[in-house]
Amino acid sequence: MSGGRPTVVRVAVPVPLHGLFDYAPPVDGNPPSPGARVVVPFGRRRLVGVVIERADSTTFDPDRLKPVLQVLDDALLDREHLDLLRWTTRYYASPPGELVTHALPVALRRPEPFRRAGPAWLHLTDAGRAVDLARAPRQAEVVEALTDGPQRRDALQAAGHPADALRRMLEQGRIETCDAPAREPVPGPTLNPEQRVAVAAVLAARHRFEAFVLAGVTGSGKTEVYLQAARALVRRGRQVLLLLPEIGLTPQLVRRVEARLGFAAHVYHSGLSDGERVATWEAAHSGEARVLIGTRSAVFLPLRNPGLIVVDEEHDSSFKQFDGMRYHGRDVAVLRASRLGIPIVLGSATPSLESLQNVHDGRYRLLDLPRRAGGAVMPRWRIEDLRGATRREGLTEALVERIRRRLEAGEQVLVYRNRRGFAPVLMCDECGWQADCSRCSAHLTWHRQAARLSCHHCGQQRPVPPRCPECDSPRLAAAGSGTERIEHALNERFPDVPVLRVDRDSMRGRDEFEQLLEQVGRGDPCILVGTQMLAKGHHLPGIGLAVVLDADTSLFSADFRAPERLAQTVFQVAGRAGRRDPGEFVLQTRHPEHALVQAMAAGSYLKLAELLRAERAAAELPPAWSLAMVRAEAQSADRARAFLARVAGTVGSNEVRLAGPLPALLQRRAGHWRYQLWLMAPERAPIQRTVARLLDTIPADRDAARVRWHVDVDPLEL
Ligand code: ADP
Ligand code: ZN
Ligand code: ZN
Repeated sequence: MSGGRPTVVRVAVPVPLHGLFDYAPPVDGNPPSPGARVVVPFGRRRLVGVVIERADSTTFDPDRLKPVLQVLDDALLDREHLDLLRWTTRYYASPPGELVTHALPVALRRPEPFRRAGPAWLHLTDAGRAVDLARAPRQAEVVEALTDGPQRRDALQAAGHPADALRRMLEQGRIETCDAPAREPVPGPTLNPEQRVAVAAVLAARHRFEAFVLAGVTGSGKTEVYLQAARALVRRGRQVLLLLPEIGLTPQLVRRVEARLGFAAHVYHSGLSDGERVATWEAAHSGEARVLIGTRSAVFLPLRNPGLIVVDEEHDSSFKQFDGMRYHGRDVAVLRASRLGIPIVLGSATPSLESLQNVHDGRYRLLDLPRRAGGAVMPRWRIEDLRGATRREGLTEALVERIRRRLEAGEQVLVYRNRRGFAPVLMCDECGWQADCSRCSAHLTWHRQAARLSCHHCGQQRPVPPRCPECDSPRLAAAGSGTERIEHALNERFPDVPVLRVDRDSMRGRDEFEQLLEQVGRGDPCILVGTQMLAKGHHLPGIGLAVVLDADTSLFSADFRAPERLAQTVFQVAGRAGRRDPGEFVLQTRHPEHALVQAMAAGSYLKLAELLRAERAAAELPPAWSLAMVRAEAQSADRARAFLARVAGTVGSNEVRLAGPLPALLQRRAGHWRYQLWLMAPERAPIQRTVARLLDTIPADRDAARVRWHVDVDPLEL
């Protein structure tokens, strides 16, 4: 090898192939270091990749290696960041190319040098104040917007000031970039003893890794704990990363962080423009961003001087990515904190069994906030027995009365139903025909307002038939009720009160939901009807009564996680009630004697979760056991099943237990039959070894190209 100079650079390239690619150093320069952003030739394309390592030799003919075309940023990713990304792609059995996708925002994945953006804030210069802009109305509007003080550049653009006007004014010296203006931080409440213990525990761990599960009912002051710990660490010059399950929760938290800490928080999620995302990425990388707030993907932001990671609503399955690299944002966050040697706080009113298993095993520490902060009390629970009760469109008379009393007392009501649309089934009263999806093993949902039948799995849409296609009867009827039907029924019963539906059909944009929350926040009596969107951590202080309608399908689901999910939903919905005044919670069921219903009614999520965890452990299921699955989909059921049977045959080790091929819970979707092979073991290591071996052997299967297959490590969906 020539003079000890490395001859090969190994590059992760964003293509769906397993493996790194070897390149020669650039023709006229030094070999780039690990973490460098480079442009490489790939087939006929030029792609942006990340250098993973340098090496002295290659298994290819070194003379035929193509050189790196361009080094865009040398050593852009530091060692910690690169190691995290490598570990994650390996653990989740995804191609190393995914590493590039998660390491870099879109703007940095284009084969162009990247122009660094200045600080995100702009203010007026003296020149800008003095200049006469009568003939430049767009600039005059910018001056107007900045007279009261600096503004964020992205906020100005969002308010309609064009980017080129801003750029011109910067060039002309009429405006300048500046630091975020410091504001007087608003003092927080005096912490109660449990909150103080929690903050002290987190801060005591500030120079080492420790994982805390902060369990506290809604309104117990978890966010206050994050804020106080964050403030103490930010003052010491450290960065704080706050992860949330969904975009909709970010504005509330951003406002609270900014008010309490007195400076701007940086936001990172898929709702931002490419430019906004790269600006946050840069600010994280340079250390300028002191508090970063984002969804799942923010766990991969570069951090200059990290001090704390917080995962709020850690039980939420939105932290798991369902395609591409199937990682779990919470689990990656814990791994990252452990490698960084910093504390991490996993907060939830309903912690996941995974986190509680780690508490049980002594790896994480439980911090409990058992009561509501500021004197609010927990709602009263009531189980409504549906046996023998007459229901009209999902509502019993007793429930309607209860709602009426709350509204008359000037309160708001929340009704949860886990089904969109008017009815989950349209059926014929004469012959029992049901409208099914032709491509999925599922019923079509009747959306009455939109006058269509729609498949919630594949998106197929059909007009509503006027008569039964089997027997020609006109007597087609709705079976069961979704949110649209309940909204309709409540509107009929309470014509003078606004009934606000919150689901993916009614809330199309982010702004719509924010506006609705604002309206509800004003406190006038109203009824909220909605799906999962309502069970997340939104602050709704005026709710006096919360209801979970018809929880029974979850009681008898084949999914071993169904009881946990139901318990989490029920406790989350119950937690929306009576944050200000004593409230009330109603759970409807036809099985009041069911053990899970009884355990929920006893009122302690943590006690119930402990029972569920022990049950899972006894059944040798996650989280006590480790699970990975190989999934396969094909146009014929036999092909998918046979493929997985052959995969099972190649495992050939007795260190993992195999189950399957088993049909997926939704056996057919969009015309494809879906099967899965489970790999289970009490430890992770044997699963990891087996998965690594399978990734080598499966591509050689004779049907590997005709079957859609992937590996899911720690899957959440069956
Ligand atoms: P969580 O995140 O657990 O839902 P929050 O931190 O949002 O709880 O607190 C709920 C409400 O109680 C907020 O309005 C918060 O300002 C208030 N609060 C929190 N801690 C205290 C405290 N120690 N004393 C008084 N009010 C508090
Ligand atoms: Zn019929
Ligand atoms: Zn379908």
